[in-house]
Amino acid sequence: MKKVLLFLIDSMMTDVLRNCLNKGKTPALQFFYQHGQLIEDCVTVFPTMTASVDCSLITGEYPDRHKVPGLVWYDPREQKIVNYINGAETVLTLGLVQCLRNALFEMNNRHLSSEVQTIHEVLEENGFTSGSINVIAHRGLQSYNVRPSFLLDAATGFSLSGVTSGPSIFSLGTLVKPAIFREVPWSVSQSLAASLGINDRYAIDVLIEVVKSGMQPDFTLIYLPDNDHKLHQAYRLAEEHLAQVDEQLVRFLNTFDSWEQALQQNVFILVSDHGQTLIGRTDEHNVNLDRLLADYAIHPLGKDDVQGDELVICNNERMAYLYPLREHLLSQLVELLSAERRIDLVAWKDGPWVNVLNGGKALAFCRGGSDVDQYGAAWTVNGAWEVLDLRLDERGKISFDSYPDALSRLYGALFSQDGPLIVITAAPGYEFVSEHMPTHLGEGSHGSLHKQDSLVPLLIAGSKRPLARPARLVDLKSYVLQEITSQTALV
Ligand SMILES: [Zn+2]
Repeated sequence: MKKVLLFLIDSMMTDVLRNCLNKGKTPALQFFYQHGQLIEDCVTVFPTMTASVDCSLITGEYPDRHKVPGLVWYDPREQKIVNYINGAETVLTLGLVQCLRNALFEMNNRHLSSEVQTIHEVLEENGFTSGSINVIAHRGLQSYNVRPSFLLDAATGFSLSGVTSGPSIFSLGTLVKPAIFREVPWSVSQSLAASLGINDRYAIDVLIEVVKSGMQPDFTLIYLPDNDHKLHQAYRLAEEHLAQVDEQLVRFLNTFDSWEQALQQNVFILVSDHGQTLIGRTDEHNVNLDRLLADYAIHPLGKDDVQGDELVICNNERMAYLYPLREHLLSQLVELLSAERRIDLVAWKDGPWVNVLNGGKALAFCRGGSDVDQYGAAWTVNGAWEVLDLRLDERGKISFDSYPDALSRLYGALFSQDGPLIVITAAPGYEFVSEHMPTHLGEGSHGSLHKQDSLVPLLIAGSKRPLARPARLVDLKSYVLQEITSQTALV
């Protein structure tokens, strides 16, 4: 029976992949391309940030069902901002310990809804085995003690120990190591973030050990983050960055007698979590939310409660969640934000309705009704369809262009939480900045609903079954489950 390997390559983009394939820069990806199916326009999740995407990938649901709103969001019950480990720059900016505790324990143990099942839980409840290497969202049936190295533990005030869950093969950098085979060595290097082992080389080291051990699970999800960090710092070198990811894939393929043998034994699925948008070089391309909303008492990052505050800003690069803490503020904020030309979409909830403004035009939609989109979801849509660039296809279904799967994805973000919140996205070429958040002038950034951030390549090799089009990242869970269960009597 073939195993399934799903590689999540952070910020892999279709045009970059195409250029690399044409120039012969990525031999492993070339091999998969020649032996499989390339879908160039797979739709990912909104916000286009790794944390929310990971949760959707393993649950097959948008955030309105899995309840992890994004990389950064506000928890009104705890009166605090939640942020997850997602790239070195965020970890270092927002505080390593807090990010690690959120990612290690809070996301998987508390935030990720118990109403949804992860792919690991479904597989292992049905007698299959599952694995997760360096993926932040990893809830499974097994409990694991997190054991940071002594130096890391000491450096973080001995606050990282605890219990988290995962599938039966589970690795999270140097914090949780698979116990069934030889430990993969990783030296504590100069920086704390590097010592965590959340990088491509370490993930592939672990994967090689998993396969060599003879205990490779039926399904393994492997997260390769390096491409994202590099694009944020040097967007112009995108092809070189992807070529370096490919070097790691080559290293894995070379552990087999031949690459063909790897394909005989495994189905390879390679997908990206989101794209990136090139941000303009000048300061004007930073939409400074603290400045724009300076008339309001903005909750300062790190403050223990929201006493006296009027507004919480949760910045997800090219998208932001805004939480008005007093009822009358919502309409004022919407008016102010929609007058800013560098903001693309302004959206908020009104009962079951989602209201959206774009360029002075308005649209409202809610679930249920006679308007059916190309993914089969039913809606009632009122107002100007150009707000979300909605069209009607030849079958009379709502189709999308500038904002892929716009209705379900925007709904998913707004209904990921109860209570009032406003979603804003930055116009192409712009990103939001706020207190302590990194900026990427002249480099890549992401987070928005726009197709530049939202359409990703998906490569499947070694399977006889094509993935149905139009493809979405949330449909990969059922594809993998069918791939595994269809090979056995337990269909
Ligand atoms: Zn990123």
